[in-house]
Amino acid sequence: RCWDRDDTDCRHIGIVWPTDEGGTFYDPGDDEVNLEDLQAENPWTVAHELGHGVMDDVYKDYQPDIGPDCRQHFVHLAEKAECAWVEGFADWYGTEVVELFGNPASFDFDTPTWGDPADWDNGPNVEGRIAGALRDLVDSGDEPSWDSYGEGEANVWEVFLDHRSDTFQQYWQQRGTDGYNVGDAPQASLFQNTIDLAPGFREPLTAGAERVRPTPNPPGRHNYRYDTAFRFWSVVALRPGANDDYELELYDDRAMTQRLGQSLSGRGATDFIAVDSNVNNREPGDYYPRVTHNFGTDPYVIEVADGGKLLPLTGDQRTMGNNDLVEVWDTCTDAKRSITVTPSGAAQDAELYVVASRPGPDTSVIGRQQILTGSVSGGAGEPESVEFTPPAGLDCFGVILINKSGSGTYSLAVS
Ligand SMILES: [Zn+2]
Repeated sequence: RCWDRDDTDCRHIGIVWPTDEGGTFYDPGDDEVNLEDLQAENPWTVAHELGHGVMDDVYKDYQPDIGPDCRQHFVHLAEKAECAWVEGFADWYGTEVVELFGNPASFDFDTPTWGDPADWDNGPNVEGRIAGALRDLVDSGDEPSWDSYGEGEANVWEVFLDHRSDTFQQYWQQRGTDGYNVGDAPQASLFQNTIDLAPGFREPLTAGAERVRPTPNPPGRHNYRYDTAFRFWSVVALRPGANDDYELELYDDRAMTQRLGQSLSGRGATDFIAVDSNVNNREPGDYYPRVTHNFGTDPYVIEVADGGKLLPLTGDQRTMGNNDLVEVWDTCTDAKRSITVTPSGAAQDAELYVVASRPGPDTSVIGRQQILTGSVSGGAGEPESVEFTPPAGLDCFGVILINKSGSGTYSLAVS
């Protein structure tokens, strides 16, 4: 079989070893890999240079314009986009080949991500980032953060065979044109490797499934998406590290040009934004939170609550783990009401808030600073209460339970 599956007349890729050309490189003019003496004993280097030969074959001798500086390139540093693509592809090809035979690659392309290693540049002009992205598209998700996606080798290879790509961005566009998935799921594999191509990655959040994410610096901010289903209140909440401060904003559109609301808590305080989707308020649907780095270095927790449930007058219970962050109920009343939350254990620290909204889509998004009322902190292990008299004309309120710390069961009593 040919290097290029779509060829009928197979190309020969020569290997000159030891070369007297001064260096280890692929020569596209002669279709030859030149190997300096000892380099031939490094399987990854041999396979990397062969990768250049395979690309040269598939691209019919029309190599992207990599520029003269590409001769001196580094896995972890930003380069000309064409150079990063040509070298990143060869890095990935070499890695796939040697690992088939149980040999290690010369570089680890699997674990690098934002800020780690500290001396790696970010983005699609870094060959190591491209190699990592291709690898994470192929492998099934085993990364601690964003990359939970894997599709095998077929799509990555097919798009490579079917196009001549000048850059990784162009390769990704061609993948989309060919009908392969370029949605948020595979984009997570790119984002894991610090590549966020327009129109941009929005990490999907599912109600009740909290995410622990590293500090958003770099890249400065994290963008999310969630979908609500119920004509009730829903909430997105963010718990920072004890000394950290991140801004939480909520947008109506994927492009994030129409901001609906924001939450402006200080260091260590949980941010939340509640949306009223009761009749005459906002429609359920897609919402886009943004977390922006202000201060701090610790991971944060983000979670969406969209349970579509009323708080029974007989009370309710909710068991929350350490990283379970938020729950929401609707309570509808035109009389004074008080709600008390009692933790089951001494380490649990709850916060209770009530939010209200006037009818209309523009008044239905409530940041933490706009609450109707909130409980006074009693400290860990202590019950906390809210009491409110409904403002005239309002009847359905959101009751928000925040788990500030600890794990166990919270019991809510209503009177
Ligand atoms: Zn190379």
